[in-house]
Amino acid sequence: RDLIPENHPRRESLLIREKLIEAMEKSILVPQGLIAHGRGECFDYLIGEKTQDFAEKAIEAAAATLLLAKTPTISVNGNMAALVPEGLIRLAEESNAKLEINLFYRDERREKAIAEVLYKGGAKEVLGVGEDASEVIPELFSQRRRVSPKGIYKADVVLLGLEDGDRTEALVKMGKKVIAIDINPLSRTSRTATITIVDNIIRAVPRLVEKVKELKSKSKEELEQIVFNYDNKTILAESLKFIANRLTQLSLSL
Ligand code: ATP
Ligand code: MG
Repeated sequence: RDLIPENHPRRESLLIREKLIEAMEKSILVPQGLIAHGRGECFDYLIGEKTQDFAEKAIEAAAATLLLAKTPTISVNGNMAALVPEGLIRLAEESNAKLEINLFYRDERREKAIAEVLYKGGAKEVLGVGEDASEVIPELFSQRRRVSPKGIYKADVVLLGLEDGDRTEALVKMGKKVIAIDINPLSRTSRTATITIVDNIIRAVPRLVEKVKELKSKSKEELEQIVFNYDNKTILAESLKFIANRLTQLSLSL
């Protein structure tokens, strides 16, 4: 960390990598999480490392959906706990959502390490640890994905980030609305989710917290209108067009 010079042009990005490595050393993250992050970094280059308009629109629809939800649950994995723990805790508070740990590579030691991060950050309740994950979601890949009966299992809205496509699809098949934060608009998760926020989780989560606070004063009808006007395919198409145009512009400026 001290070895990264103050004026390094990619300092931010390098500090984030350091954070992930630290999380791996604390058993919060598995090495596969580092690879997933690397893929995400590449897409961040493509979208210009900024929250673009297509993400803003998805964030607004996501905030409205969370506020209208009856039993919203935030699914937390290692990458999310490593990068945006405070943001997730605040998001749960502001939108009255449950926090549930749900790992692709399930392991009790890691569940406990992540729960500790969330409790230390001020979370009141953390679901999905050990025996609490007693319900099963039929999943294409493993057929034995375990979740908490108080959280994801009964949730009407699930927010997730950096999630595998099979898992997202399993939740959508159960009739849940899925809000995905995934910076790759081509991933299966992005294409399956009800609302896809194509942005870096580091920017998207704090922005979503702000948006939830802002929309709290709106009426149910106004929130429903926002959700009604949102179309995920249009947003994904916008993001791809944005990347294509940006790359064309960049190629002309060489
Ligand atoms: P899928 O299973 O949906 O087809 P995948 O197999 O390509 O996706 P996974 O490793 O299953 O990828 O999921 C991780 C996803 O999270 C990837 O789409 C990756 O681009 C995205 N991602 C990685 N880092 C970030 C980040 N910091 N913010 C947002 N999304 C990220
Ligand atoms: Mg995958």
